[in-house]
Amino acid sequence: MENLSSNFIKDVMIKDLESGKHDKIITRFPPEPNGYLHIGHAKSIIINFGLADEFNGKTNLRFDDTNPLKEDIEYVNSIKEDVKWLGFEWDNLFFASDYFEEMYKRAVLLIKKGLAYVDDLSADEIREYRGTLTSPGKESPYRDRSVEENLDLFERMRNGEFENGQKVLRAKIDMKSPNINLRDPVIYRISHATHHNTGDKWCIYPMYAFAHPLEDAIEDVTHSICTVEFEDQRPLYNWVVEQCEMESTPQQIEFGRLNVTNTVMSKRKLKQLVDEGFVDGWDDPRMPTISGMRRKGFTPESIRNFVRETGVSKGSGAVDSQMLEHFVREDLKLKAPRTMGILNPLKVVITNYPEGQIELLDAEINPEVPEMGMRKIPFSREIYIEKDDFLENPPAKYFRLFPGNEVRLKHAYFIKCEEVIKDINGEVIELRCTYDPLTKSGTGFTGRKVKGTIHWVEATNSVPSEFRLYEPLILDNTEEDTAEEGKTFLDNVNPESLVVLQGFVEPNMRESRPHDKFQFFRHGYFNVDPKHTTVDKLVFNRIVSLKSSFKI
Ligand code: ATP
Ligand code: MG
Repeated sequence: MENLSSNFIKDVMIKDLESGKHDKIITRFPPEPNGYLHIGHAKSIIINFGLADEFNGKTNLRFDDTNPLKEDIEYVNSIKEDVKWLGFEWDNLFFASDYFEEMYKRAVLLIKKGLAYVDDLSADEIREYRGTLTSPGKESPYRDRSVEENLDLFERMRNGEFENGQKVLRAKIDMKSPNINLRDPVIYRISHATHHNTGDKWCIYPMYAFAHPLEDAIEDVTHSICTVEFEDQRPLYNWVVEQCEMESTPQQIEFGRLNVTNTVMSKRKLKQLVDEGFVDGWDDPRMPTISGMRRKGFTPESIRNFVRETGVSKGSGAVDSQMLEHFVREDLKLKAPRTMGILNPLKVVITNYPEGQIELLDAEINPEVPEMGMRKIPFSREIYIEKDDFLENPPAKYFRLFPGNEVRLKHAYFIKCEEVIKDINGEVIELRCTYDPLTKSGTGFTGRKVKGTIHWVEATNSVPSEFRLYEPLILDNTEEDTAEEGKTFLDNVNPESLVVLQGFVEPNMRESRPHDKFQFFRHGYFNVDPKHTTVDKLVFNRIVSLKSSFKI
């Protein structure tokens, strides 16, 4: 696979291999299975798998499943599928929940060392006692319980003798530390909930800040790569590894998270969009999830190339969403067959073309890749053209069809508009045209020129198709809920993010399968939708239009 360009994490790895600190690089991708993966996760996947791979190291896929209330096996399965689809293979598949017994033992060790205590304060009180950035915290009245009492209470917590929230286990570090994360962080809480892996075996669960370093150390992870929000937690991470007497000492290294314009990325918000019906699921093509992007038609290559282009740094400015589109266009340009589809059909009858006759015209599958060969397109007396390729009263410099004007039909003939047929409301419903048999494409006709070329499909053999055109789901560029008083990101949901059109495509596309990708003449790149396509109707998702002003 493609390498990442040099970056500070790679430099650390090179140094650690050269100095002999490690003889093998081991990384992990540690999602919490509480939602589907999004494009931000793709960045973490590519960094973790990509860097380990460059040094012939190993990467674990590890589910950080320490919160049974939010996690689900559906998410576990989708995450596995998405990582594979992106092109990565994990060396080991692990679950943090497999280490619960080990974590419990380490917590007991902390208690025995006088470094952890059971606290009876409520969650609110704990927050209040914690202090702020400018004021020190206050010690809990339960902080000086004896080791024996703590051991007894912690065991009874495990045995289910207490209610949710009644007690917690806290690390005993320093309530006056300038780093709030070190002010006796909670490391275990009670939660009487069924876990997707361990069922009802446990009713106490380790907190992220305690569990994560242990998970990394248990797996001998050498470099624990995470995003910059965790920078302040690094001292706690190191404290846990050291005080729990772990043999391995992983190094936490932070990088700037990926943000994309017009895109919300937090799983909480994405879940809200799903739960409140703004989209038709986590894999809705408007979602920035890997499954949504796959369904829309993005390729793994385009996502990987995009992420590599964004680089690895500490900063986290938002990347223009058009950059993503640029990479999928680049990828599909030489791969996708060209074809014609009519999204807004207007019928055209070619009055001087013999009735009942169908001829097959030749067209390249992809003019940029001649090896892809040729396709046959039927032509007859009745065709469909795009409604907006005709204007009854055209402005100056309009070169498409209007009464009396002649245009080229792509791959076919010149036609001239002779008559406009309207319904009782005055709406144009059909055009009568004539064609000139001498102007057939590919015959070298030079008699006269026309300025416009339009696309079309033959009417009697065409395949009814649905076209789904997408606009950004989110109109704003910030993720902040507080942009305006009382408003949330849901106020920025674009009510016109999906436009559904019914039209027709060339008959040779009848056998198209879900995820086949095409470049429709003048309309852009489309993907056959895996969810809505039926035997009677093809459904196409527009991946991107053809052109953009975006340059990298
Ligand atoms: P979210 O905030 O979207 O809910 P998360 O960080 O809670 O995401 P996890 O399941 O904990 O989700 O993430 C797994 C890994 O992916 C973590 O190492 C996390 O740092 C990384 N990650 C999540 N979002 C991004 C992002 N936008 N850019 C880069 N890495 C990310
Ligand atoms: Mg998280």
